[in-house]
Amino acid sequence: MTTVFEVEKVNPLKPLEGKVAIVTGASRGIGAEIAKALARNGATVVGTYNSNPASIEEVGKVIAEEGAGTFHAIQADVSVAEDTERLATEVVEKFGKIDILINNAGITKDRTFRKMTKEEWDAVINVNLSGIFNATKAVINHMLEQQYGRIISIRSIVGQAGAFGQTNYAASKAGILGFTKSLALETASKGITVNAVCPGYIGTEMVAAMPEEVLQNIVSQVPMKRLGKPSEVAQAVLYLIQADFVTGQAISVNGGLYM
Ligand code: NAP
Repeated sequence: MTTVFEVEKVNPLKPLEGKVAIVTGASRGIGAEIAKALARNGATVVGTYNSNPASIEEVGKVIAEEGAGTFHAIQADVSVAEDTERLATEVVEKFGKIDILINNAGITKDRTFRKMTKEEWDAVINVNLSGIFNATKAVINHMLEQQYGRIISIRSIVGQAGAFGQTNYAASKAGILGFTKSLALETASKGITVNAVCPGYIGTEMVAAMPEEVLQNIVSQVPMKRLGKPSEVAQAVLYLIQADFVTGQAISVNGGLYM
């Protein structure tokens, strides 16, 4: 007997119409492009910022000018649990639900391990890893109640391969993998998928902060011989939102640098 699977009809123009998404760290770089991509696909997007209100205003302006979708900005430091709780409460009050969480906010504080201070270690772990705990903790009950959710965390090639001077950052990004797989197991039967994207070197302010000769050296090692674009990370995020049968995975977006 042949089993015929029904092909779901989706709106090809606005596949995320009716969905409410939170993107942490949407004021710049990768987070800003993810927010725009989600809005263009019809989602109502709440973008968070930490210290850059002017920058996130620009993101909102672009979305409004494009007439792409609804965008709302909220200040929240992801390393502070009270902030992420307030964020989730405000989103539910304003938009009625939370369907998608993109854990994007992240920082670096690079130094060789011998010279790295405990403060530099804690700062990176608190934002990059505990920030994901805080934001996910704040939304998970809403997703469980509605039996639908998409949680996507932005990791890094550095969490896969390691990098000189980045023990704190690499540990935080490797930790996200264990978090993603474990939470994916816990929520797979509840309509929630939990995945990650591992960007390689993407042209944002974070990468621009690297010494020019280090950057040139990295680019020369990328098989595609260029930096990635923030919008190319957003493409993978869009895929994971729509991929109903994919959970506990990490997709690399790195121009072939780490396979
Ligand atoms: P970015 O340009 O430096 O932007 C970082 C974003 O995170 C900003 O919106 C910033 O908000 C926000 N942020 C920083 N600390 C925060 C905190 N405590 N609470 C809430 N938000 C905070 O970084 P990016 O290059 O776009 O990177 C985005 C993510 O991708 C990060 O997780 C990063 O580790 C990862 N990634 C980047 C690359 C790359 O090549 N760029 C590669 C691999 C992975 P404010 O502007 O308001 O401070």
